[in-house]
Formats: sequence, C-alpha cells, structure tokens
Amino acid sequence: MRKLLARIGDMVGTDHGGKRYTYGNDPKFGPVSTSRLPSHWVRTTCGYCSVGCGMLLGVRDGRAVAAKGDPDHPVNRGRLCPKGLSEHHTLAAPGRLTDPLVRRNGRLVATGWDDALGEMVTRFGRLIEEHGPESVAVISTGQLVTEEFYALGKLVRLGMRLAHFDGNTTLCMSSAVSGYKQAFGSDGPPGSYADLDQADCIVLIGANVADNHPLLTPRLLENRAATSIVIDPRVTKTAMVADQHLAIRPRTDITLLNGIIKLVIDWDMIDHGFVAEHTEGYAELADHVQQFDLDRVERECGIPASAVAKAARTIAEAKRCTVAWTMGVNHSVQGTETVALVCALSAITGNLGRPGSSPFSITGQCNAMGTREAGFTASMPGYRSYENAHDRAELAQLWNVTEDRLPLVRGRAYPDIINGIIDGRIRGLWVIATNPVVSFPNRDLLEFALAKLDTLVVQDGFSTPTSDLADIVLAAGIWGEKEGTFTNSERRVSRVRAACRPPGNARTDFDIFMDVARRWGVHDDLFAGWATPADAFEEWRRVSHGRLCDYSGITYERIDASGGVQWPCPTDEPVPLGGTPRLYTDGVVPTPSGRVRLACVTPKPFSEQPNRRYPFTLNTGRTVEHWHTRTKTGEVPILDSLSPQAWIEVHPDDANQLGIRVGDTVRVSSERGAIDGIGVRITSIVRRGEVFVPFHFDEMCANRLTLNEFDPVSREPNYKQCAVRIDTGAKGR
Ligand code: SF4
Repeated sequence: MRKLLARIGDMVGTDHGGKRYTYGNDPKFGPVSTSRLPSHWVRTTCGYCSVGCGMLLGVRDGRAVAAKGDPDHPVNRGRLCPKGLSEHHTLAAPGRLTDPLVRRNGRLVATGWDDALGEMVTRFGRLIEEHGPESVAVISTGQLVTEEFYALGKLVRLGMRLAHFDGNTTLCMSSAVSGYKQAFGSDGPPGSYADLDQADCIVLIGANVADNHPLLTPRLLENRAATSIVIDPRVTKTAMVADQHLAIRPRTDITLLNGIIKLVIDWDMIDHGFVAEHTEGYAELADHVQQFDLDRVERECGIPASAVAKAARTIAEAKRCTVAWTMGVNHSVQGTETVALVCALSAITGNLGRPGSSPFSITGQCNAMGTREAGFTASMPGYRSYENAHDRAELAQLWNVTEDRLPLVRGRAYPDIINGIIDGRIRGLWVIATNPVVSFPNRDLLEFALAKLDTLVVQDGFSTPTSDLADIVLAAGIWGEKEGTFTNSERRVSRVRAACRPPGNARTDFDIFMDVARRWGVHDDLFAGWATPADAFEEWRRVSHGRLCDYSGITYERIDASGGVQWPCPTDEPVPLGGTPRLYTDGVVPTPSGRVRLACVTPKPFSEQPNRRYPFTLNTGRTVEHWHTRTKTGEVPILDSLSPQAWIEVHPDDANQLGIRVGDTVRVSSERGAIDGIGVRITSIVRRGEVFVPFHFDEMCANRLTLNEFDPVSREPNYKQCAVRIDTGAKGR
C-alpha cells in the first residue's frame, strides 16, 4: 500500500488550471497525458526557504514539468511543502523576463545585452567619475547561489571599488548575525535540525514554522518525547500544535526571557559547571534579572504567572533544550539584544554544543546563509573582519592583490543605502533579485527614494513593481536554470542544478556578473580562468579554509554522495561524510576569552504605541502559500488561487465594537499610508487590540503602513509593531 501511495504521489500532479493530470502510461491511473511525463529527473534543492529541502525536478523536452521531494535528502526525506511541490511552474511563468530592457522615451523596451550592459557600465562609470565610489550602491539577495554571491562581492568591492554593497538578508536575519556575534564572537548557527529531533524541550520564539518553514513542523510533531513551547502573540498554526503557548503582548519577549532566566537562577537550576567554565558576565546577569519578577512579567507580557513559571520549569528541567527563533525576534529595533539574550538563556542552562541543545536561528531565504559566509556585506568572505589586520593580509594573499585593494570598512547597510539616496549621496543603484517596492518598510518613502536616482538597474527573473521603475532591466535566469550551491539554516551545503535554460535571451546571474567584469576591465584580474560557477566554488573553498565556516573539504562530489554537507568541513581534519552537525562542542566560542558573553538586556517599549487616533497594534507576517513579495508564487496558479489577496485579522470583540462582520472590507491606515478594501477575518487568533496583515501583496501592501525604524546594530527593520486604525465602509476589490 505504501509503495502504491508513493507511486501515485510521484505520478499525479496539478496543471496550471488546477485540473488533475497523470504522468505515465499505467491504465490504473486513468487518462494519460505524456506531455508532462518527465524524461528524466534533476536532483536539486528548493529555491524558497532556508529549510533547504532536497528536490527532484522532472524535465521533458527542455522544460521542467514536475517536482517531488528527494527521498535521499537528509533534510526532508522525500517531503515537500506546497511551494516546493509547485515550484517547477515558476520557470515558464508568464511574468518571466526574456530580454534585457532599457528605458527609452519613458518606456522600457527590449534590447540586446551589449546595449543594456554597455549603458549600465557607462552610466555607473560616469557617476563614479563625477561623484566618487560612494555614489553607486548594490542591493543583492539570498536568492543567488553561493558561487554567484562570492563572485558578486569580488566584482563590486574589489573590481568596481564600490563603497556600498548589502543584501535583502538585512531585512530578515541580520539581527541573528549581530546577536550571535555579541554572544559567541562570530556568526554561525551552533545547532542542527537534528536538535529538534533530539531535544526534550523545544522553544520557538516568534517562529511560526508551520507557515514559514513548513518542513520543520513534522520534526516538532514527530518528537513526541519533547515538550514544545511556542512564544508568539498570535495563535499561529505552530502554536496550535504546541504543548504550551505563551500568547505574549507584542515586543515583550525581552521581559519574558529575563523573567525565565530569573526563575531558573532562583531555583538554582543553572548549569553551574558550564557557567563557570564557559561564560562571562554571569554575576551581572543574575543581578540584572532580579527586577523581572513574575508579577512584572505577567503584567507586561499579558501571560498568567503560572504559565510563565510552567514554561520556565520545563526549560530548566530539560536535559536537552533547543531554543529556535525567526522573524518575531529579528524584526525589532531590539533584535540583536533579544538574540543575545536567547543565547544567554541557552548558555546558563548548558544548552550549547550538545545534541538537542542549541540557540538556533532559523534563517529566511534559501541561501541567506551562503551570503552571510561568502561575504562583503556585514563581514569579508569567511567571516573575516574588515578591521582585522591578519584577516586583511590573509585575503590579499589568497587573491594575490595588494591589501589596499580591500575595503577598510563595511559599506552602508540596506536601510542606510536608502537614506543615502534620499540625502543625495547615492545616485546609482543596482538591485539584484529582490523587490524593495513591496518588501521594504514605509513604501511611500522607499518610492520617493527610488524616484530620486539617476540610474536604477534591476536584475531579476521576473517583471516586478521594482523593475517597472528601472532605467535598465537585466533579464536573469532563476532557480532551476543555474548551477551552484545553497546553504540552509543548519549550515548544510546542498547542490542547485539547472534543469533547463533561462528563457529567451535571459542569462544566469553568474554570466551577467562575468560580463559586467569584462566590460569594467577587471575580469582577467579577478576572475582569470573562471568559466562556470564551479570555478567560483573551488576558489571559495580555498578562501574559507581555516575559518569557522570552512568549506574546504566540501566538494560537489561529496555533496552528491551525502545529499548535503554541514560546514565546518575542513580538509585537514576527519569530518563525517555529511559534515559537522554542531558548533562549540567543547563549550569554547570565538570571543577573545573563549567564553560566551552573557547579555544584560533592558526592554524598551516600541515607539509607536496604540493611541486614540490609531488604536490597534499591527503585526505583519507570512502565509504558507506565498513567498516574500509573490514574485514567484503569484505566478503559480494553485498557490495564487489558494491565497489570492491579503486580509486583516481582527479580534471578535474589536470587530463587534467597530461594527464589522466577516466578509466586510475596510481601510487600514497608519501615520504613513493606507490599504483600501482589505477583507476582514474575525478571529481569536489575534489578541484584542492587535491586528495582523500578511506582507506578501503588492496591491494591499502592508509596508504602506510599517515604520522605518531599524535595529541600531544589525540595521534590521522593525516590521512588527506600529499603530493603525480601521475604518469601515471601504470598497472591496
Ligand atoms: Fe521549499 Fe521550504 Fe517548502 Fe522545503 S519547506 S519545500 S525548502 S519552501
């Protein structure tokens, strides 16, 4: 029976119109259409989220016609979520760009690569000549393969000598990076997905994995020995399957974490040995948390004291506790500090470097991790510091360039690039595979900034609201059309393979970068002998050797043999075939003292509290059917029909007071902008006084409402809390 079901799973799919069809010629399965029968399957990795599921992409006549989970991949063992199962539909979607475009007389018109890249190089070159290398910036993405991102960093910072290079990853996980650096002295998630299987307590803070990282949810459900605790203001799908749900008031996670730490200390349930040998700052922390007694925690967090104590007791008594988080923690002006506090809780309970025990940041995009490691945004490649003399000398020697060729400081982070455009210092912008018009907070201000640019170049596989504003559009290949690697949240490097060619005259990002390098006159200098992404990978392996994120022992062949390899994987030490499951197994971390720095964190109320004019607190987030700004998932009919438009969740008591009913449409507005005609869902998923809107939708863009406030260290936006009002009588769409 299992075999039969597996076979049906392999053979039955859904076409663009939602009709069922079959692959193959077995009469048991009804009418046969051979047009979608794959002639072969290509082994690759999903191009959406950072779970990093292994996938088989079915190909026929040069087109991707099917997708199924790779039964041999260590992450997902044959499963895929709805996005992964339908990902092949994105490749031949109607919104794909097939030619480069250049704006002529106000309109974007198709042109050739010589024209588009020639104009880009001329315009950027002129800006740099007239206004210096500070005047052109690049915003990249976690959608590139590591090989492309590594090449792009060299091109932009060493070749074009541009001062400012960052990525959309700053919008989702830069606080995890900064928080890890504060606590452990380096970025790098210490744990593995296996920790979710091995833990006897799993805490998820601001992490609705059921919607955002769907293939982690089975691990929660299947580890029946573990007690799961979800800390989230909403009764999310993840909260619904948890053993304990702490429905916290917005941005009171710091108070709650301090309160839990106080209880663990008061009960004398810390790991004394680990604290003594592997931490610093314990006395200060123990003193600091005294102010967070249960009465205060109950009052500020809105959670009964008994529920807080129960959760704290579960964490304290656990032999193996994994605390994982995502955007509910990161999307805050105190994101870095909150991450550091999570790491402190893990450290004082001895939950670091052991199976089932880690503070674990679940990353966002499919290759956000690869971009963290391959560098030239927050750090230089291999987590090297811009300021560290040894790191600079080592890199210069590896690349056979003089040290003065390397940048002395990191460039502006993403929000500061936007600020630089507004104040007139940045006049040219190259945006690669991201869609800031929909994804950046405070959309009106962002659109104002983009309109000020002298030259906006957008490189993407799809026509987007951002490419619509560009002067030059570079038509790029996407996942499924290119070769390389992605690194997932647990540091696992997996292969990404081309199943088909980019459409029309579109080119892979790698080919575009190499062509720009040639036209800029730096190809032979920086990329001599490079023909394919594999050449970039070979160099990256050498450059990462000896670093925490050591890829030197990872080869494409080793990945093929294991399904995916977790770094560090040095060449000069014995490492299991699948790599290193966890960091810091000896308790020693890369701070100067080798000890975990325990953070004392004081909560600050978020700046825009609900008030008479704007009485509700807005929370934003995602839904399982869509990815980011729907550039890809909006083109997949089955996903689009499941979730075609945004909605607002309103508590029944608030709906009653406002006089709105299910199916009504309303206007939601903040100090910055408004969404008209959004449909209402009346639900106790949200607390009274709080509302929720998914952020994926261009037409009803949640970022018309959000604040432009950022974490001072990581520069990650505070997408989660701002004050809004709801007005009835708005027309629906
Ligand atoms: Fe892709 Fe993430 Fe879904 Fe896995 S869970 S199939 S990686 S979107």
